[in-house]
Amino acid sequence: MKKNNEKNKTIAKRTLSGILSLTLLISLISNIKYYVERAAVENSVSFSNELELDENERVKNIRELFERSLYKNKKLSEEEKKIIITSFEENFLNHYAKYLDYDSIVDLCVSAQTVDIKLMSDFARKWGWWSGSFNPYSNRYSIADYDGELVSHENLHAILKRGLMSTGLNTLVWGYGLNEGATSLFNNDFAYVEESIVINNLALIIGFEEMLDCYLNGNTFELVNKMCKYTSLTNALKLITLTDINVFSGYYDTFSQKFKEESYEEDYSEQFLNRFSIIRDIVSEMYENKFGKKITDDNLGKYITNSDGFTLGKNNFEFFYTFWFNQDGQINLTAVGTELIETIDENGNENIEIPSKNYVYSIEELQNLNFEDWIDMARNDLNKLEKNGEKILKNF
Ligand SMILES: [Zn+2]
Repeated sequence: MKKNNEKNKTIAKRTLSGILSLTLLISLISNIKYYVERAAVENSVSFSNELELDENERVKNIRELFERSLYKNKKLSEEEKKIIITSFEENFLNHYAKYLDYDSIVDLCVSAQTVDIKLMSDFARKWGWWSGSFNPYSNRYSIADYDGELVSHENLHAILKRGLMSTGLNTLVWGYGLNEGATSLFNNDFAYVEESIVINNLALIIGFEEMLDCYLNGNTFELVNKMCKYTSLTNALKLITLTDINVFSGYYDTFSQKFKEESYEEDYSEQFLNRFSIIRDIVSEMYENKFGKKITDDNLGKYITNSDGFTLGKNNFEFFYTFWFNQDGQINLTAVGTELIETIDENGNENIEIPSKNYVYSIEELQNLNFEDWIDMARNDLNKLEKNGEKILKNF
């Protein structure tokens, strides 16, 4: 018996190490393949010439490089290519291509040439707790349907693929929440609202271009470094972990509600509120260290870290106010309605809209302001927004 057992153990060990080496080999092969494709893109003669142009020309050229690379992709249908081009250029490239550096542009082209799309199965659509996902290992994204915003969101993950396990700020699981928040913010979708609020606040603290730089180069450690100027390492890591937990428990809640076949309703649990009160405290500390003044609900905190902004739907209020980066390199001071309003356009079509009203500032304007000026400006515009709050709702 013992002997047999040992023999079995040896076989098991051999099988296991066989499987492990095979997996390693397969992953190495796909990784090598990726780097070969990367080198091919880099060595194409026109590539580097086309990037040495002034900013306007550069954005145009990046779009053309992207389209040309996409048309070389043999895995995608012509319709899929068209959807990717239209949605990705509209949502992301037109606004942020100018921030892509040489390495990111090479990655953009390699991704366009090699990425694959798969429609989710009916089973996954019924039981899945997300509408799309990108797998860096297989270099493929799966989507529930060809919705432009969704395609563009997943494609943004795809162009930021790093190695076999990572994309953007996400390494394996770590940074998953912040990565989704940044992807939503820079793709201008509202797929991950709370996580976008966190990213938006971090960008207001560390700087917009710094945040973009960390995101586009997948540099989570650099982001932690920048956060540590305003908070402790423990708090920086805690904020990242809590944001991760928020996304995963959100997936779980959706899944379990679907499982019970109850209609899905967003519900803010006590754990959610606790998580966000810790995140809010860390963010408030960071603002305080940035401005040298305590951020409270009586001053700037009302607009950037107040409980309403962080825990949407907690109270029965009609608007919450927030400073929000928009896609044109500006910051909006926005009053956002918390209820969706149904409208009917002139053709009789029904639409669902989120009532909102903006004041727009340039990033430089806001980043160069001191605390008092920022509050003054916000108070002035906020008073106007608050007075108009009722009116905005009625106009919708
Ligand atoms: Zn995503």
